[in-house]
Amino acid sequence: MRKKIIIRQFSGVLVCLGLVLSFSLGAFAYTFIAPNSLWKFSGGSFNKKYLLYCTDTLGSSFTEGFTRWNNGRRNGSAVCSFSSTSSISGSNVDCYASALNNYSILGQTDYFSFNGNLYSYTEIDLNTTALTTSTTARSQATATHEIGHALGLGENNNMPATIMCQESGGRSVTTPQADDLNGVYALYN
Ligand SMILES: [Zn+2]
Repeated sequence: MRKKIIIRQFSGVLVCLGLVLSFSLGAFAYTFIAPNSLWKFSGGSFNKKYLLYCTDTLGSSFTEGFTRWNNGRRNGSAVCSFSSTSSISGSNVDCYASALNNYSILGQTDYFSFNGNLYSYTEIDLNTTALTTSTTARSQATATHEIGHALGLGENNNMPATIMCQESGGRSVTTPQADDLNGVYALYN
C-alpha cells in the first residue's frame, strides 16, 4: 500500500519549542499545509472515508479522532464528515500504527494522488514507539491532530488552545476548536 511520499507533517514532542514564545493576537491563527497552493481533499471535506489498518488502542484512538472532527460545529454546522470503510480503493484516510523508531514523532500524515492541488487520499501513521506505552488520551489527541493535517491544516503553535497546536507547542485542548474549524471552512469554501 505504501506509495510515493509527497509531503509529511510530523507531530513532534521535541521541536518547535521556540515558537511558543511568539504568540499571535490576530483574529485567527490557523495555517494550511500548503499556504500558497491550498492543498486539500478532492471532492471537499464531507463524506470522506477512513480505513483502519490497526486495532486495539491506536485503532480506537483513530475512531475517536474522527468522531471529534465530526462533532465539531462552526456556526452550528459541521465543517467535515468522516465514516469508516472496508474498501481499500474507497478510503481517503488510511490509518496505520507504525513503529517509526523515533520517540519525538507521535504521528505523521502523508498525501497521495494529486490532481493539481487536490489529493485524493492520505495516510496517517501513529507511532507505536512513542504511543503504545503512553496514555489513551495522548493517542486520541494525536490522532485528532493528524486528521486535521489530513484535511489540509498546518501546525498552529501560536495558539495552544487549538488541536492543530503541536504537543511540543503546549497544546491545551484535545478536540477541534473554533479556530481549527474556521480553518477547514476557509480551506474548502
Ligand atoms: Zn502536526
